[in-house]
Amino acid sequence: MNILVINSGSSSLKYKLFNMDEEKVLVSGVAERIGGEHSFIKHENHEKTIINVNLPNHKAALKEVLNLLMDAKLGAIKNLSEIDAVGHRILHGQEAFSESVILDQEKVETLKGFIEMGPLHMPANIGGIEACFSLMPDTPQIGAFDTAFHATIPAKAHLYALPYELYEKYKIRRYGFHGTSHKFVANRAAKFLGRPLESLKMITLHLGNGSSVAAVEDGKCIDTSMGFTPLEGLVMGTRCGDMDPAIVPFIGKKLNMTPDEVDELMNKKSGLKGFTGISNDMRDIQQAKEEGNKLAQLVYEMFIYRIVKYIGAYTAALGGLDVMVFTAGIGENDFEARKDICEKLSFMDIKIDEKLNNGLRGKETRLTAADSKVEVLLIPTNEELSIALDTYRLVNNKK
Ligand code: ADP
Repeated sequence: MNILVINSGSSSLKYKLFNMDEEKVLVSGVAERIGGEHSFIKHENHEKTIINVNLPNHKAALKEVLNLLMDAKLGAIKNLSEIDAVGHRILHGQEAFSESVILDQEKVETLKGFIEMGPLHMPANIGGIEACFSLMPDTPQIGAFDTAFHATIPAKAHLYALPYELYEKYKIRRYGFHGTSHKFVANRAAKFLGRPLESLKMITLHLGNGSSVAAVEDGKCIDTSMGFTPLEGLVMGTRCGDMDPAIVPFIGKKLNMTPDEVDELMNKKSGLKGFTGISNDMRDIQQAKEEGNKLAQLVYEMFIYRIVKYIGAYTAALGGLDVMVFTAGIGENDFEARKDICEKLSFMDIKIDEKLNNGLRGKETRLTAADSKVEVLLIPTNEELSIALDTYRLVNNKK
């Protein structure tokens, strides 16, 4: 069975074609600069190819991608009927979608009502789905939501202490994001340990350009650091994460900025990059820190401190901790950050094994010594495979 996974961004469309019998990627790629000048597709089968092609919109991009999949040299299939289903990554399911679903026109109309919740991503996500409806009308389309895994967070953790009618009228509450990643690594971690997910208190740390923490009890998410939008929580590449909300009107008045401009400052001009003026990439921050840059040193300490604080809070929320999982760009590759986080948790009897921590990358690994009270694991995330697995399950009517 072949499943195509599509992740449409505002000006890009990422794709991966899986053969699910072997859970293997047949071809993958990304169409970039959709709707702009000099658009192109970076395509990969056995080798990497760049195809310069005009891509005025997502439908045109998908058409080119489907042609590539069927290309005798670059593709993997002969005709579109060899794609059994398509899985779409969707940013926001609001309260309507608490798990992945088979999409139809009615559900797409519901999604259009959530555009306000993700003005950059949702139109692109919907554009990708509609393009598939029109180009592959007989192929089942599945939606997998970044918010869905967090739907189990109880009201005491997902509500804000604002007037309740703001929740009732506008659905202002914590939604959380990176759900496919947290769910995937939580499942993989339980399998790796050979223990039932339903018996574990777990904290999953998705540390990439965007970062979030989730507290997972018996396989269900009970809290997460991102909130109404992906801005809340940890210090990120360009986002500030938690801060006193009264700073927003203060900045607006001082700098004569509109609410949208302050929003942009907090989302795009803050975090590692905004604080240091160096870069949103943790590798550049690490290097600047080694070269003695004081702001890089400070932002790194803030990044680690915020994570440690969340781990402490979530351990209390869970009433204990069995497993902690590192994933995504920083979580999978930055052994120094992992070590610094774990060392600050030594009071919880977490004992990292330096040799294991400095060892192989890109592989599921236990990072702790045998006598560590909490298991700390590195589990590479794979959001596309997670979506493909959900798609496979839904089209095969499996629970
Ligand atoms: P996203 O999907 O949110 O763009 P990723 O999960 O790909 O993010 O993570 C990207 C980030 O991972 C980069 O911005 C960089 O900071 C970090 N990263 C990647 N490799 C390393 C490394 N070897 N050391 C430290 N940080 C790394």
